[in-house]
Amino acid sequence: MRMVRFLLLVFLAYVIYLVLKSFRSLGRRPQPAQRRPRSSGVMVKDEVCDTYVPREEAIRETIDGKEYYFCSKECHKKFLDRRKNSA
Ligand SMILES: [Zn+2]
Repeated sequence: MRMVRFLLLVFLAYVIYLVLKSFRSLGRRPQPAQRRPRSSGVMVKDEVCDTYVPREEAIRETIDGKEYYFCSKECHKKFLDRRKNSA
C-alpha cells in the first residue's frame, strides 16, 4: 500500500499549495493607490516663461550641446520659433 500513501502525500501537498496560493491572492487585494512622488526633486528652469519645473515632467530639448527644459509644448514651440527668428 505504499503507492496509496504516496498519492495521499501528493494530494496533501497539492492542498497545501492551493491554500498558500489563496492566502497569497488574499494579500494581493487592490490597495489604495499610493502615489509616491517619483520626482527626484530636481527643478529645471523654463527659459521661456521663467518657471521652474520638475525635470521629470519637463520637455527637454538639446540645442548645440546645451539642454533646455520647458514646462509645456507651447513654451517649447515658442523657444524654437524665437531661435528661428533670431537666426
Ligand atoms: Zn513655460
